[in-house]
Amino acid sequence: MMSAGASQSNTAHAENAAGRIYDIQGYAVHDGPGIRTTVYTKGCPLKCLWCHSPESQRYELELGYLAVKCIGTDLCENACIKACPQGAISRDEPKAALDGSGMIQKATIDRSKCKNCLSCTGACVTKALYATGWETTVDEVYDRLSRDRDFFKNGGGITISGGEAMAQFPFTLNLAKRLKGDGVHICLDTTGHAPAERYEEIMPYIDLFLYDIKHMDSAKHKRFTGVGNELILENARFLAKRGAALQIRVVVIPKLTDNEADLRKTAEFCASLGEAVKLVQVLPYHKTGRMKYDRLGWRYKLTNVEPPDDGFMEEVLEMFRSYGLNCRLH
Ligand code: SF4
Ligand code: SF4
Repeated sequence: MMSAGASQSNTAHAENAAGRIYDIQGYAVHDGPGIRTTVYTKGCPLKCLWCHSPESQRYELELGYLAVKCIGTDLCENACIKACPQGAISRDEPKAALDGSGMIQKATIDRSKCKNCLSCTGACVTKALYATGWETTVDEVYDRLSRDRDFFKNGGGITISGGEAMAQFPFTLNLAKRLKGDGVHICLDTTGHAPAERYEEIMPYIDLFLYDIKHMDSAKHKRFTGVGNELILENARFLAKRGAALQIRVVVIPKLTDNEADLRKTAEFCASLGEAVKLVQVLPYHKTGRMKYDRLGWRYKLTNVEPPDDGFMEEVLEMFRSYGLNCRLH
């Protein structure tokens, strides 16, 4: 992963650094204060079992397939099938079209043959086949974000998210610098899993860090996310000591992170960070990202996990509040 890392480090201070992103969403109301526009970068060192943006995990561009957009191989004259050099696309079984127009045979992908060359995405007129992201630069993203400027006047701003935006450090740093120069409020949504020096360097340009604490037990953290929690906790302490503002997010997932003793340890840790913690968001697990796994041909592993009930979430919220923390649900 992150194969561009070496070349990126050569341009660490390039004002117009290259980046790889998978989305820019305007009118975001859950990514920090006010109305915001969020930039989503590709690539993450964590692989959380509950990740609701699987397309963000790998730095490489991958093939996504949104079958509902496929109008059938007959209408397209097998455009994607012809475009694939690997013979990975074929005609699916005939099925009734949703609009009642008769039977259609959509495309189906044999992921074991697919090499992610993305040739088929150019052939697909409906964009049922698409690349999970694109190459960009600080200049391009800055220009796009400038269009949303009017929305930021009432306490909103820009959020740089991922994936893990700190993994594309030259891009993230220079974008934050450029926006800060215009006086824009900037949130950085981070896993906390990046070298401390990078946090130190970017701190002057970030108004608020959106910071996940996923589990206080490092062995469980590794089992659920692929990495231990040491660096994440260390960086949270580092940022708090340096005077950064933190909005901590704790996702409550039945059977994984909902044990009371574990949640109490998380609350204690948040409280130990003192005034740096402006808000703790206690978030119930949800399944909204599940269908995105199908689009990538991946298996979603938490199929039997249901969201926690409202009563339990209220109890968790009260428990966090009992540590003197400013908290809210969602
Ligand atoms: S990404 Fe390339 S290999 Fe994969 S299905 Fe499309 S054309 Fe074939
Ligand atoms: S995936 Fe795209 S190109 Fe292939 S049959 Fe469907 S709509 Fe046509």
